[in-house]
Formats: sequence, C-alpha cells, structure tokens
Amino acid sequence: MGKIQVLSDLVVNQISAGEVVERPASVVRELVDNSVDAGATDVSVYLEQGGQSLIRVVDNGSGMGAEDAALAFERHATSKLRKESDLLSISTLGFRGEALPSIASISKVKMTTRSAESATGIEVKIEGGAILSVNDVSCQVGTDFEARMLFFNTPARRKFLKQPRTEELKVEKWLLHSSLGHPTVRYRLFCDGDEILNLPAKASFIERAKSLISGSYVVIEPRPSSIQVEGVVGHPALAQSDFNALIFLVNGRLIQDRALVKAVKDGFDSTLKFQEMPVGVISIKIPPSEVDVNVHPQKSEVRFVNSQGVFLAVREGVASAVRRFNSPVAGITDSKRPEFWAKSPAPLVQQTYMSGASTSSFAPRFLDSDQSTEQFGTFANYGGEFVGGAAVAEAPIAGQRVVQTELIHRSTAATAPNFSFSSLRYVGQIMYCYLLCESSDSLVVVDMHAAHERYNFNLIRNSYLKGGIAVQELLVPATIHLGKEGVANLSQNSDYLKRFGIEVEAYGPLSVVVRAVPPFLKGADLERVLRELATESFDGLPNSVQGAIDRISARLACHSSIRSGDKLGPEDVRALFQALDSTEFSAACPHGRPVVVSFNEAQIERWFGRDR
Ligand code: ADP
Ligand code: MG
Repeated sequence: MGKIQVLSDLVVNQISAGEVVERPASVVRELVDNSVDAGATDVSVYLEQGGQSLIRVVDNGSGMGAEDAALAFERHATSKLRKESDLLSISTLGFRGEALPSIASISKVKMTTRSAESATGIEVKIEGGAILSVNDVSCQVGTDFEARMLFFNTPARRKFLKQPRTEELKVEKWLLHSSLGHPTVRYRLFCDGDEILNLPAKASFIERAKSLISGSYVVIEPRPSSIQVEGVVGHPALAQSDFNALIFLVNGRLIQDRALVKAVKDGFDSTLKFQEMPVGVISIKIPPSEVDVNVHPQKSEVRFVNSQGVFLAVREGVASAVRRFNSPVAGITDSKRPEFWAKSPAPLVQQTYMSGASTSSFAPRFLDSDQSTEQFGTFANYGGEFVGGAAVAEAPIAGQRVVQTELIHRSTAATAPNFSFSSLRYVGQIMYCYLLCESSDSLVVVDMHAAHERYNFNLIRNSYLKGGIAVQELLVPATIHLGKEGVANLSQNSDYLKRFGIEVEAYGPLSVVVRAVPPFLKGADLERVLRELATESFDGLPNSVQGAIDRISARLACHSSIRSGDKLGPEDVRALFQALDSTEFSAACPHGRPVVVSFNEAQIERWFGRDR
C-alpha cells in the first residue's frame, strides 16, 4: 500500500474548521450570516461562557425542509451556488457550503428548523460530525442552531480559547459592525442570560449607523453610479491611532482593505495628521460581478475588478462629506475624550451601575436609542438627542438608577449643515483665547488661534498649489544664523520656499539672508520660522499634496496666526468669522483639533443641576 491516503470526511471537516472556525466569534459569524442569507428579520444570539459551552443562533428566516436539513451538514452542500459561473456573481454572504459541516465536526450540534411549506419541523443532532438522530418536531418557521462544547474533540484548539469575556466582546463587536450591513434585521445578543445588545430593525443603513454613533459625524450621500458609496465619517478630532474604528462593507459584507483605508484617509485631506486614522463606516454597493468575494478563507477580504474606480469613489465620497465639517463639534461635559462609536461600554457598566447592582447580572451594555426611550422614559427628560446606549438609563430592576458617566449628544454637525460663523452673536473674548458666541440654540465657543490657523493654512496651501504666494520685500533683509546643515537644506530648496513666499539665500556657510516674506508672516518671529523650516524635509515637493506641502503650510500657518494672548476687538472677530465662512474645513484646525465647540441648552442645564 502506498503512503498516500484520502482523508476521512471528519478529518477534512476538522481541517476546514481550522480555517473557518477559529473561535466562538467565527461560529457566530457563520451562523448569523446563514440567518441573514435565509432572509431572517430577527436574529438572536445566545452565548454561555463566552460561547465555549454554548453558541446558539435563532432566526425567523426561511428555515429548511427535512431533506435540506440533513444535506446542510454535507461538505460543500450549499443552496447558494449551482455552477461555476455563479461564483462570478455572488450576492449571498455564504457560498462555500463548509460552515455547517465544519462546526458540526468540532462541537455538539442540535439544529431545529422548519420551512413555511412544511407542517412540522425537523431536529438534527450531530456530535463530532456523526449524525445521532433526525426527528420530526413541532417548531416555528425558521432555524434554531445550537453548538455546544466547542472544540470538545480537539483539545489543542480548546487551549487557544481566550477568557469568556474576551470572546463575548469579540462577538459583540462583530455583531455591531455586521448589523450595519443589514439594517432591516433586528439583532439581539444574550450572554449567560443577560441581554447585551438589542438593535431594532432600521429603515436604512444610514439610520442604523446613526443609532450606533455617539460622536460628531457627517453623512456621505450616495450618488447614482455603478459603484455606490454611502457612509458616515467622524469628525477629524475623533481620529484614532489605529484603524479599528473604520469599518467597510461591500454589498453588506464586512471586509478589511488597506487600499480603502488609504482612500478614506486621502478623502480627509489636510484635516488629519499623518499618523491619524479616520473613524466611520463606509458601505460600498457594487454589482456582484464586479467583485470577487472568494479570496479569503473567512471571506473578510474581497478583490474588485475596478479597484481604481472603487478607490476614487470612496475618496471622493469622503472628501465631499468632510468638506461639510464646518460646524461645531458637540461639547462634552466631562473630561473623557469623545468617542465616535457608542460602542460596547462594557467596563462602564460596572462603574455606572450603582451599588447593589451586583445582586443582578442585568446589564444592558448597549441598547438602541429608540428602544431605550421606549423602555426608559427618563431619557426624554434630558431634552437632548441621545445616541446609542451612552446615555442615562433607569434600570428596570430593583428601581436602581443607572447613570452612565458619559452623556453625549448627537452633534449638530449633521443636523445643522447651514452653520455659519458670521451668523453667530459674538458675546466676548475670554482668557485672551476663546471667543464666546451664541447661536439660535447653543453656546458656541471658538478657539481663535485654531480658527485663524485653519484659515491661514488653507490660504497658504491653496496659494502654493495655485503656483505661488505674493511676496513682500523686507526693507532690511534679515540675516539668520542656522548652521551648516540648515543653510544647505534651505538653499537647496529655495525654489520651493519661494513658492511659499519666502526668498532666502545662503549668506556664508552658516547663515542665510531673508529678502522677502509673504504678507501673512508680517510680525512673525522670522528667526524661529527659519529655524523650523531649516529642519523640515522638502521631500515630495513640488507636488505631493499630503506630506511636505501640508507640513510646511501648517508650520507657516502656526506662525502667522493670532496667538492666544492677543486681544481681539469686535471688528477683528467679524473679519475672522467672515474669513472662516469663506474657507473649507473651517471647524477643524490643521492639527485635527476642533475649532468650534457648541453646548446646547440641555447640556448647560446639566451644569447647574436644572435637569433633575
Ligand atoms: P453556505 O452558507 O456557504 O451555503 P453553510 O454550511 O453555512 O454553507 O450552510 C449550508 C446550507 O444550509 C446553506 O446553503 C443553506 O441552504 C442552509 N442553511 C444554513 N443555515 C440556515 C439557516 N439559518 N436558515 C436556512 N437555511 C440555512
Ligand atoms: Mg454559511
């Protein structure tokens, strides 16, 4: 006998399970995807011990007839694909027919299912891939899938399972993200009997997204095109150091894609620093024939036929939305850094449930706002528009009041697109730094230095891109000592500097002489400006838009701006506000910090305890 043997089905399925079923969250993903593919509008996920003892997914989808219920566990048995060419236009989440046999090979499964056509349902029990029983049962239309004792027969894999809490969080995060792709489905998650998530059905993707967001955002409106880009992106001030809070959906499927991250970043233009990562969710709708979804074992990457077209559509969609960030960021009333996603405030629950809560494990980590208002009438008392569960709730147990520490109001960014600085009533300057103003319904505070910096940054950058800035000759040229390297750097790049309006040439080996500067640097500390420029890298000039042009523009803008400490008269303020209205991204300074923050009446009332 030769050495080569064909592997048994069980081994093949376990190998496949190694790719498909990495951990409880991957089982949940496969099962919930199946529910969605089956047209379910209601999906509940139950975990026990983080999914290690039980993962159960119950749906009200199409269910299966008796024949299909048994076939579903055969390897490569699928109802979603018939022939080779179908692979080129997949519109379902699943298509390989390997999830159920994989899951059944490494756990103890009981599946109860009924289709609308059959009067009775069917219950299939399988352990480690072996069918134990198939029985007629009475049950609702839909499918109830239980996988117990994950990896019971593969101890090596069991060892890699993390703490139940970690697994729960993974499932929760995936469900939240995935729910964005299927807004009309209601999702619930229960962990050891506690309701953790409750996301009611929404009319649209945008509505679902809004219900999960707590920070300032703008909406990307879809344009008629074969590549439709819709989305919601967070204010530049909410940017993060990694891209975990930037979510992509392609035809409802959650995917990861580095090129798309870059497209979004490019769309944010100069509102972000080099290392900052934007936050938001981008949904791309594209004909299924234009995208290959069969390129990754867990189907979390795709390949576009026209990747350049998709890149541009995303970049343009984001760019046109980001341009509308010209209105205030909602002020927050505590010291916590605002977050974009009203994501699982898990650790908050402990801290925010008042003492005695330990007697009950009820802890809604996330309830949708609609539902919350319904259940917890107290929301309305705060007058504000609440988002997600990051609000104040009255616990339905033992009358305990649950106060979450963060009270975040939905930003006016999306609701007041017609914000203009000039229409504000200017009240006065405080701390030589902030301009207090009143809008029709809010207290609006402008950081005058950040505002001026944004204005000048745009001016400098746009003038540079248009080919140059008008210069003013200095009556007395300034000689500045910079050292050998600085002199070399500046004289090598003097053409670029000229385009920024600075005429400079070497004056001996250690100094430069400055003959002309742009008007906006009048009054700036020239020696400091030149010292800083001497350390700049001019790589990528003359043309790379991000990088050197932005860096140098930001540097010059910083020196040209009103410093905090300057006193501004009402005329100066009016001029500044008019200038801001005429420029783009005026609500975020080039360092991504907010320029203008607003506090609505409900927030102010809270300062004074008037909300109680
Ligand atoms: P795939 O999703 O790739 O087709 P699966 O192994 O996940 O493969 O499922 C096999 C088949 O079982 C599916 O094609 C579908 O016909 C059926 N099925 C699985 N889960 C459900 C469900 N929740 N409701 C209805 N049918 C289901
Ligand atoms: Mg599937």
